Amino acid sequence: MVIDSHCHLHDPAFADVRETVTTALAHDVWGVVAVGCDPDSNETTLARAAALPKAIWPCLGLHPDWDKLGDAELERVEAQLARYHARIVALGEVGLPWYSLEGAADAAGRMARGLARLERLLALAVRYDLPVVLHAPHGAAGTALEALRRRGVERAVFHWHKAPAAITGAIVEAGYLISVTPEVVYRDRDRELVEAVPLASLLVESDAPWPYRGEFEGRPSGPWLAARAAEEVAKIKRLPVDDVMRQLCANTVSFFDLPWR
Ligand SMILES: [Zn+2]
Repeated sequence: MVIDSHCHLHDPAFADVRETVTTALAHDVWGVVAVGCDPDSNETTLARAAALPKAIWPCLGLHPDWDKLGDAELERVEAQLARYHARIVALGEVGLPWYSLEGAADAAGRMARGLARLERLLALAVRYDLPVVLHAPHGAAGTALEALRRRGVERAVFHWHKAPAAITGAIVEAGYLISVTPEVVYRDRDRELVEAVPLASLLVESDAPWPYRGEFEGRPSGPWLAARAAEEVAKIKRLPVDDVMRQLCANTVSFFDLPWR
């Protein structure tokens, strides 16, 4: 059994949240860490978690690559954090823009504004003692790592991580975690990442409802895919799958400080 460490349960695909969780349980996923992306999805995430508090743990976030999210949304998310920090298990997802910078006329300015927003949110994570779920792919990872250190953040996970090996090494060295998606089943880049990162520094996630390729093509995406990712981690690490699932579970429980069932 594993926990999905990053799922967008606010998505309309998961409107029947009870059925979603039941399907996940049937596939060896007994809990879901549900991230938010903006004020509205944060509210939906809280509502879905309140419906099934033993299986869903909510986070509040502001997605750095979502267009049209500006300072007004940042202020609303800050207000949500002030109000709900005791009900959530992490700040997330937050981070730095990367995909939205491609072809943008003002990429440097967007990155600078993104970093300023991230720093404000990290300050709140420290204040409320919340771990941080980061979206900081590729060239954004190093900058995010510096921001974590500058702000004195102790617990952070780089979700769906991809970055040069040296940056990944520095992240692990600093005691932060790396999370992998079902892409690990079919993508060499992710498989090499799992080879390189110690099991104690890994989490698995679905990032559902993201549609995956390979064997997942045409099949519904949901938190249940986290178990398949865990199975593949076991194969890559050449360890018994039950042991790997237990360790990944323990990593997730300790990182988010979840009630152990
Ligand atoms: Zn996500």
